[in-house]
Amino acid sequence: MDTLLKTPNELEFLHPHHGFAVKASAFTSLKPQKQEIRIGSLKSCRNVGRVKASSSALLELVPVTKKENLDFELPMFEPSKGIVVDLAVVGGGPAGLAVAQQVSQAGLSVCSIDPSPKLIWPNNYGVWVDEFEAMDLLDCLDTTWSGAMVYIDDRTTKDLDRPYGRVNRKKLKSKMMQKCIANGVKFHQAKVIKVIHEESKSMLICSDGVTIQATVVLDATGFSRCLVQYDKPYNPGYQVAYGILAEVEEHPYDLNKMVFMDWRDSHLNSNLELKERNKRIPTFLYAMPFSSQRIFLEETSLVARPGLDMKDIQERMVARLRHLGINVKSIEEDERCVIPMGGPLPVIPQRVVGIGGTAGMVHPSTGYMVARTLAAAPVVANAIIQYLGSERSLLGNELSASVWKDLWPIERRRQREFFCFGMDILLKLDLPATRRFFDAFFDLEPRYWHGFLSSRLFLRELIFFGLSLFSHASNTSRLEIMTKGTLPLVNMINNLLQDID
Ligand SMILES: Cc1cc2nc3c(=O)[nH]c(=O)nc-3n(C[C@H](O)[C@H](O)[C@H](O)COP(=O)(O)OP(=O)(O)OC[C@H]3O[C@@H](n4cnc5c(N)ncnc54)[C@H](O)[C@@H]3O)c2cc1C
Repeated sequence: MDTLLKTPNELEFLHPHHGFAVKASAFTSLKPQKQEIRIGSLKSCRNVGRVKASSSALLELVPVTKKENLDFELPMFEPSKGIVVDLAVVGGGPAGLAVAQQVSQAGLSVCSIDPSPKLIWPNNYGVWVDEFEAMDLLDCLDTTWSGAMVYIDDRTTKDLDRPYGRVNRKKLKSKMMQKCIANGVKFHQAKVIKVIHEESKSMLICSDGVTIQATVVLDATGFSRCLVQYDKPYNPGYQVAYGILAEVEEHPYDLNKMVFMDWRDSHLNSNLELKERNKRIPTFLYAMPFSSQRIFLEETSLVARPGLDMKDIQERMVARLRHLGINVKSIEEDERCVIPMGGPLPVIPQRVVGIGGTAGMVHPSTGYMVARTLAAAPVVANAIIQYLGSERSLLGNELSASVWKDLWPIERRRQREFFCFGMDILLKLDLPATRRFFDAFFDLEPRYWHGFLSSRLFLRELIFFGLSLFSHASNTSRLEIMTKGTLPLVNMINNLLQDID
């Protein structure tokens, strides 16, 4: 069993059986860019005849750590005043800032705590345009594509008629921060290391020795899971991906479509060992073509337990790019992605409330979360505002219990259970079975596959979704779903029966 270790700002896999470790920091400092390495058209070399394009050659193009900060002054929290704020938000990612902004808008006092509050979020977020449109956030997308492509194999493609967008993380964060500042949110630059609860308030102990007192504490620390407690063994699947934003000589993709999944594997024909590994635990390419020379390319393992080794993924990516004739000239930034998926929900209720990665909100079958979390932020914020409002109707444990109930009502818990069932099936599918699965999935009526990917279907609709998927599947795929899905199905039914309000 692998373990996910918590280290400052990084997730680190330890695979005791394999004896390797993968660090997943957002940007890696290796060597400065400028140097040109050709991966597609291979240069000849004395003795060898041709240069082997290795993943280390690709990594040599990765730029020195690039951390960009927002350029405005933050109103800082003044600990000496001994104020008890209404809400302390631990973590300034999309989840935390969204709630801070909305609670402060109602006139409540909010302190946002993060070790790097001005840092522009490092992750390259992609969302379906309709998800952001529904939240009036279209201005926070920097690029949109009219649709998305799925390459099932060399012969079958799906042309998805659903616009996709890349989040302009600088714009989104600036927008949220500016609203926070205007609403009177105060910021504290530190890590929270401990929380101590009293009956009607909590004390947050920070890494700089400062103590911040708050009536409600919200943990929004992503996958660090700083304060939120779990009482069941943590056994998620892991989405692991390696991405580069690159300048290339050319690429074969249509500029109007992003590539949601490219499951082709002909790039591995000359490396049978890698091809076999990819057959057992497949990876696909996710790509956002910005222009004919600028593209984001991410080799992705959808879900595996334990998560795939990053080096393995990089090796597959290099082979793919070479096969596609993509010559990387320089890399603007890279991204090492490790997303825990599924696994148990935190203890519900508990005194500290949570949102985002820390609160089990990642879609267990896809790894997506940003749109769902931003849509859930008003639910958490409204609950806090309502219970903490003028009458202070609830405090302490009672208040937290009510917020948790609003965040994870029974229908959302059932939905998540179904998504975990989906993940359990995906974990068991090899490449041919995965292809058959997505071949049927993307043939479903849009309301089904859109709804599934965007967490809009609830249990009743999910059952119809499942039946529809089964009816669209090939006979081989049906047999696979039945054999590989029976145990997960029994588990899901068991869990659904046990989880009552
Ligand atoms: C590389 C990557 C790419 C992703 N791409 C997508 C995508 O395209 N689409 C999508 O929907 N989802 C994506 N996800 C999944 C998910 O949406 C993101 O992880 C998202 O950033 C989670 O938001 P969050 O606010 O919960 O946590 P985070 O964004 O991780 O923010 C947590 C914040 O808490 C701070 N923090 C941590 N510990 C402490 C502490 N002890 N005290 C104070 N502050 C602390 C951190 O510094 C950080 O600022 C991606 C995830 C990763 C890792």
